[in-house]
Amino acid sequence: MNIMEIFETMEYGPAPEDASIVRNWLEKHAQFDLFINNQWVKPGEERYLESLDPATGKPLAQVAAATSADVDKAVAAARKAFKSWSKLAGHVRARYLYAIARQIQKHARFFSVLETLDNGKPIRETRDIDIPLVARHFYYHAGWAQLMASELPGYEPVGVIGQIIPWNFPLLMLAWKIAPALAMGNTVVLKPARYTSLTALKFAEIVQEIGLPPGVVNIVTGEAGQVGEALVNHPDVDKIAFTGSTEVGRSIRRATAGSGKKLSLELGGKSPFIVFDDADLDSVVEGVVDAIWFNQGQVCCAGSRLLVQENIADRLLEKLRIRMEHLRVGNPLDKAIDIGAIVSQSQLRDIQKLVDQGVAEGAEIWQPSWSCPTDGYFFPPTLFTNVSPASTIAQVEIFGPVLVAMTFRHPSEAVALANNTRYGLAASIWSDNINLALDVASKIKAGTIWVNTTNVFDASSGFGGYRESGYGREGGKEGLYEYVRPKHEGAAPKPARKVAQEETPETVESSLPAIDRTPKLYIGGKQARPDSGYSRPVYGPSGRLLGEVGEGNRKDIRNAVEAARAAASWGSNTAHNRAQILYYIAENLASREQEFVSRIVQQTGSGVGEAANEVQASIARLFSYAAWADKFEGSIHRPPLRGVALAMHEPVGVIGLACPDEYPLLGFISLVAPAIAMGNTVIALPSPQAPLSATDCYQVFDTSDVPGGVINIVTGDREALAKVLAEHDSVDSMWYFGTAEGSRMVEAASAGNMKRTWVNYGRSRNWLLPDQGEGQEFLREAVQVKNIWIPYGE
Ligand code: NDP
Repeated sequence: MNIMEIFETMEYGPAPEDASIVRNWLEKHAQFDLFINNQWVKPGEERYLESLDPATGKPLAQVAAATSADVDKAVAAARKAFKSWSKLAGHVRARYLYAIARQIQKHARFFSVLETLDNGKPIRETRDIDIPLVARHFYYHAGWAQLMASELPGYEPVGVIGQIIPWNFPLLMLAWKIAPALAMGNTVVLKPARYTSLTALKFAEIVQEIGLPPGVVNIVTGEAGQVGEALVNHPDVDKIAFTGSTEVGRSIRRATAGSGKKLSLELGGKSPFIVFDDADLDSVVEGVVDAIWFNQGQVCCAGSRLLVQENIADRLLEKLRIRMEHLRVGNPLDKAIDIGAIVSQSQLRDIQKLVDQGVAEGAEIWQPSWSCPTDGYFFPPTLFTNVSPASTIAQVEIFGPVLVAMTFRHPSEAVALANNTRYGLAASIWSDNINLALDVASKIKAGTIWVNTTNVFDASSGFGGYRESGYGREGGKEGLYEYVRPKHEGAAPKPARKVAQEETPETVESSLPAIDRTPKLYIGGKQARPDSGYSRPVYGPSGRLLGEVGEGNRKDIRNAVEAARAAASWGSNTAHNRAQILYYIAENLASREQEFVSRIVQQTGSGVGEAANEVQASIARLFSYAAWADKFEGSIHRPPLRGVALAMHEPVGVIGLACPDEYPLLGFISLVAPAIAMGNTVIALPSPQAPLSATDCYQVFDTSDVPGGVINIVTGDREALAKVLAEHDSVDSMWYFGTAEGSRMVEAASAGNMKRTWVNYGRSRNWLLPDQGEGQEFLREAVQVKNIWIPYGE
C-alpha cells in the first residue's frame, strides 16, 4: 500500500499494547483465592471458576468460587475490623485512601491492561478513562475522610457493607463503592461480577501492600446464587450497595425488606440522546460515538435512544452512517481500535436476540459493510431507524452497541419521548441554545444530564437514577450519605408520654345537642366522602368516643394520588412562594392554638402543658421548613473539565406519608412540611389512633392558600392504606413511621416500581427534639439530585 492509498483509506496499522507483564502475573497466580482479613483463603469447597478473555474466548485464570460459609468468614472479619476502623481519626483513614490512590496511579498501566484482557474493553478507554477515574475516586474520598468530622457532624458509619458490582466497569465500580464506604468509616465485603474479578484481586494486593488494617476490605469472588445472595441475606451486613440490572435490584429490594439494611441501587437505563436542529452536527456525531459505542454500549447510562429533530434527521443519520463505516472493531489491546469485545458469549447472545426482535418488529437495521473478528465475542455498531417508541428495542436495555433512532418535531415532544421509559438514569441534550437545553434538562426525569457532552463522570458529581434506575447517589457529597446514618438512629428513646386523666382546657356548658363534625377525607383541596361510605370511631385513652373519621379505601388512595399528580406544578412554583405558604400555615395554626391543644389532650391524655409544647413545636417546625424551602439548594461541582456540574435538588414527586402514632400533630407536620417545602405533593395517612389533629388541619390548609392536591389526607387503616400507596406505580416515594412489620411490608411492596422508601423499622423517635424530628435528614429524603453538566467554551 502506498502513502496515497493509506491517506485515502485512512487505514491504520495495528498498535498493540504489550501485555506480557500482566500475562506473567496471571501465569504466576494461575488460581486466585478469596481475600479475607488481608489473607488469601481457599474457598470452602475448593472450587474455581474460569475467567476468559472475551477477545479470544481463551482462559485467563481460575478464580475462587466462594460458598456462603466463606461469606460468613468475610463478614465476620469485616465486623471485627469495624470496631477499630470506625473509631480511627478521619485523618488516618484519609492517609490510607491516599495511599491506595497513589498505588493505583503507580500501577495504572498494569490495571488498564488487566481490565482490557478481562473485560474486552479497548485499552484506550481503560488507560484514559477507567483507571484515572479510579485514582480520582480514592483521592477525592481521602478528602472526605479528612473532613467527615467537621462536615458531617451528627453522623456515624453504617457498619459492614455488602457491595455487589457488575462487569461493565469492574475496577471503577469497585472504587465507586469502596472509596466512600471506607472514607466514612465502614468496612466492606465486595463481590465482583463473575466474569470480571481480576482487577479486584489485583486491588487486593494493593490493600496488602499499603497495610490497610485486616478485615477492612474483603473480596469474595464467585457466583450470584452463592455469594451475592449470601451477602444480601446476611444478618450481620448493615447495608447493601448494588449496581446491576433492574431485575436483580428489584429482587434485592424484596429480599432485604424489613431487615433494617440500608440499600442503594444503581440500575439500568435507556437514556435519551436528544439533538435539536441548531446543534453542531459534527460534534453530535462524535457525541453519539461516545454515547453508545463507548465500552461496546455496555454502559448503564449509554445514550441508546437517539431522538433527533425531524428536519435534520436525514442529514444527521447520513453523517452517522459514514462515521460508523469508519469505526474499528477488534483486538481491545490495539490502541487504534474504537470498539472492543462484548464481555461474554451469553451477553453477545442476548444482544443478538434483541436485535433480531427489533427486525421482527419492523424497525430498519443498518450495520457497516465490514465484518467483525470471529474468534472472540464481537458485535458491530448497529443503527435502527423507523422505530416505534413502544417497541421492545425502544424500551428495553440492550446493553450492547445498538442505537435506536426516533424523531420529534417540538421540544415538548422530545421531552415526552425522553421520559417514555421506566428508567431515569441519564440524558444528553445537544443544542446551541442554552436556554432551550436547560429548560429541557429541567423536564427530563434523570439523575444526570449532559449538555453538549456525554458519558463524562467525576468523583465530585453524584451519579444515580430516578424511577426504575434506582436510588442513592455515588460520588459527590450527596453520595456520602449512603454510607452514614444519623447518630440517634437505633438509639431513639421511646417518647415518654404520661397517660393522664383526660382534661379539657375549657368545658362548654350546653344543653343543646352538639353539631356533628365528622371530617371527610381531604383530596384535591376538598373534603371528599370516603368511597366505602363507612366511618371509623376515634377513642380517647380512657375509651371515650371522641368522634369519627372517614374509612378510606383503595379507591380513595387512587383518587388522592391522581390529585397529587395533577398538582405537580407545585414543584415548579418558586421556593419563595412555597416558603410563604408554609409561614401562612404556621400563622393559621397559631391562631387556633387552643383548639389544637385540646385536641391533643383528648386524643393522647397528655397534660395541657405538654400538648401546648407539641403545638408550639409544630409551628416552629413549619417555620424551619419555610426557612429551608429556599436554602436547601444543591451545589455546584467543579469536575475536571472546562465547565460546571450543577447538582440540583429536585422534588421526588408524589410522596406517601404514613404518620407516627406518637405526637399526632407534630408527627404529621414533621413529615408533611419538609415534603411540600421541597416541592413534592403528598398523600398523608394520619395516625389511626389519633387522626383528629390531622383532620383539624383541613381548614388550616384551606385558609393558607395551599393549592388543591398538594396535601391530601386519607384516614382509615394506616397499614392497609400504606400498602396500597407502596404498591401504587404513580407514587414516587413512601415514608412510613409505624410498626416493624409495616416497614417490611412497605419495603417489599415498593419493589413494583422501585420507588424510594424511608421507614422506621418500628423504632420511635422523639419528634420534639430538632435533631430527631427535623432537618437535613428529612430534606434529603424529599429531594433527588440531578447533576447537569455544562461545559464552557467553543
Ligand atoms: P446482574 O444484575 O445479574 O449482575 C450484577 C451483579 O449482581 C453481579 O455481580 C452478579 O453476580 C450479581 N447478582 C446477580 N444476581 C444476584 C442476586 N440474585 N443476588 C445478589 N447478587 C446478584 O447483571 P448481569 O451481569 O447478568 O447482566 C444482565 C443485564 O443487566 C445486562 O444485559 C444489562 O442490561 C444489565 N446490567 C446493568 C448494569 C448497570 O450498570 N446498570 C451493569 C450490568 C448489567 P454474577 O456476576 O456472579 O452473576
